[in-house]
Amino acid sequence: MNIHEYQAKELLKSFGIPIPRGVVVHSPDEARDAAKSLGGHLFVVKAQIHAGGRGAGHYSGEPACSGVRLVKTPDEARTAAYEMLDRTLITRQTGPQGRVVRKLYIEEGCPIERELYFSMLIDRAERCIVIVASEAGGMSIEDVAEKMPDKIRKVAIDPALGLADHQSRELATRLGLHGSQIHQFAEIVRSAYTAFTTLDAALIETNPLVVLKDGSLLILDAKMAFDDNGLFRHKAILELRDPNEEDPREQEAARFGLSYVGLDGTIGCMVNGAGLAMATMDIIHEEGESPANFLDVGGGASKEKVSAAFRILLGDSRIEGVLVNIFGGIMRCDVIADAVISACREVGLHVPLVVRLAGTRVEEGMALITNSGLNVIVATDLGDAARKIVAAVRARRTA
Ligand code: GDP
Ligand code: MN
Repeated sequence: MNIHEYQAKELLKSFGIPIPRGVVVHSPDEARDAAKSLGGHLFVVKAQIHAGGRGAGHYSGEPACSGVRLVKTPDEARTAAYEMLDRTLITRQTGPQGRVVRKLYIEEGCPIERELYFSMLIDRAERCIVIVASEAGGMSIEDVAEKMPDKIRKVAIDPALGLADHQSRELATRLGLHGSQIHQFAEIVRSAYTAFTTLDAALIETNPLVVLKDGSLLILDAKMAFDDNGLFRHKAILELRDPNEEDPREQEAARFGLSYVGLDGTIGCMVNGAGLAMATMDIIHEEGESPANFLDVGGGASKEKVSAAFRILLGDSRIEGVLVNIFGGIMRCDVIADAVISACREVGLHVPLVVRLAGTRVEEGMALITNSGLNVIVATDLGDAARKIVAAVRARRTA
């Protein structure tokens, strides 16, 4: 689960990490009042969406207006807010469709000396939390990794020993920090590690972490993501969920207790069992197309659950075809067939559908499908199913 920048900053602040003062607002007037209350002569107006690259992004149809604006007066903050709220911001992370900006964060501006990159995440290969840092802050870390990989530093944290202070101090020196900055940096890393482990985080990313003209360190941008499997232990984090930022397909699936992950391809998959679901996705790739989703309806799914799953697939405008691949163990193939048929009748089947069933009551299930009068393509095994759905989707494209 992801949260907004202002929420991440509040959390990090509660762990003792230095952040600028700021106020979240929903209207231009609130933006002006927030700037007034902050005082000073420089303000930053920041679009709050679950995507980075806002500073280099632009508003739909307005190439000159980015998602991070520096302004000098409360009235300018009001004007900037007017130009940013309720409009669609496009960044390299949002995709071409962009995201509607519903909230802004107004911060006090600060005089920057240097911009650094600092993050903490779980490295699956190392099987531990690693720190990734770079003296090339403020730009996308993907670009740094590509163009100047020697500027990226990684430090692994031993889970048994925890973070050692010398690791942070050494990293600070490599980032070109000196004097009291080394101590400040070590404090930030220590607090971030405590936040990461206490909150079951999956990522803490600060880009940039800045050195101000007076030599103090501050986090100017923050992103946090959490391990969904740990959220039951953190009710306060769950409260930070913003439904506007989440994939509507995933929200609907969550309502029915379905294990669903939205992807970018065009072939919808309905499968039971996570392993079979992944194998199905792999074989679609193998045939040269991409899955629109991962979906595991579970071992003993009810007819309601299967219908809901099917409605989510068919309701997705990107879908060009659906592949149902069910192994009936606890699940009965006739129940699946019945649910698929009624969902098709309810929603209307407008794309090719390939069904592959195996296992308990497969003959009954297949008979229901073939007698349904629906235009269903029947497959005998997984390879056959993948080839058939890919062929059907391609035929439809050229038709
Ligand atoms: P992102 O583009 O979504 O990652 O948004 P950031 O919060 O990182 O902001 C983009 C850039 O705006 C930063 O890298 C800074 O260069 C600049 N910026 C943000 N806040 C301030 C500030 O208070 N003062 C100044 N001078 N620049 C800022
Ligand atoms: Mn940033």
